[in-house]
Amino acid sequence: MSVCATDAIVLNRTLMGDSSLLVTLYTRDFGKIKTVARGARKANSKSGPALQPFMIVSATFRRKEHQELQTLNQADVLTVFRRLSEDLTRMAYASAVTELVNRLVIGEEPSHDLFELIRHTLHALNTQPPEAGEAIFWRFQLRFAASFGYAIQFVRCTGCARELEETNPHFSPALGGVLCERCVTQDAGAFLVTPGAVKLLNGVAAMPVDLLSRLKPSRTARQEIVRVIRSFFLYHLEDARELKALKFLQYMEEDQTAVPPTAPS
Ligand SMILES: [Zn+2]
Repeated sequence: MSVCATDAIVLNRTLMGDSSLLVTLYTRDFGKIKTVARGARKANSKSGPALQPFMIVSATFRRKEHQELQTLNQADVLTVFRRLSEDLTRMAYASAVTELVNRLVIGEEPSHDLFELIRHTLHALNTQPPEAGEAIFWRFQLRFAASFGYAIQFVRCTGCARELEETNPHFSPALGGVLCERCVTQDAGAFLVTPGAVKLLNGVAAMPVDLLSRLKPSRTARQEIVRVIRSFFLYHLEDARELKALKFLQYMEEDQTAVPPTAPS
């Protein structure tokens, strides 16, 4: 057993017993960990107020190897993204981000890159206009997929590796990328996408996050992008099927302008 200190992003918290909290953290140095914060709901608890979703904290915990639950000793607030809890659209996207990480990251595989990706994404959702939330979330998902070793290919055909031409490109969820007209027979599940949507997807993945608010994709392009990302996640990540975040995306696909009736949590 050792005492560890690390920066951590609060992904999720649930009540436990009379006064404790079960808190899932994505930490900079230990990956995803589940912790128990005993007494965190007592009025005099210092850690309790720091253990809200989306907060970045400095966490100290007792770590036992091969144990599912670790004991959280202390959590001090480092960053509060205040607007994420004040605006429903921002909160919905931030919840979708933390849910994806909470559900799809298994075990304690530390990744500084993933920690920074989550932190930058929450920061962008907090500071960029709410309308940019959708593109920020697309970018997060594309990069998140890449962090699992599934970088989606939008520039070269996944069949023949030639640079994609602009005639009838298809997207193959199974192969994780676009297929040219010659190679389309390689996957019966591939579907037609417009060259414009392919270009946008490639741009979103590569763009600095603070430039995403400049993108003004058409409704059709947005629907195509959502279909590409959803189909990819559903094909490769079995657990994705039950994700509220993906149901939320589906909702956005059906009605791009309205705020969802209930944000995923
Ligand atoms: Zn090809």
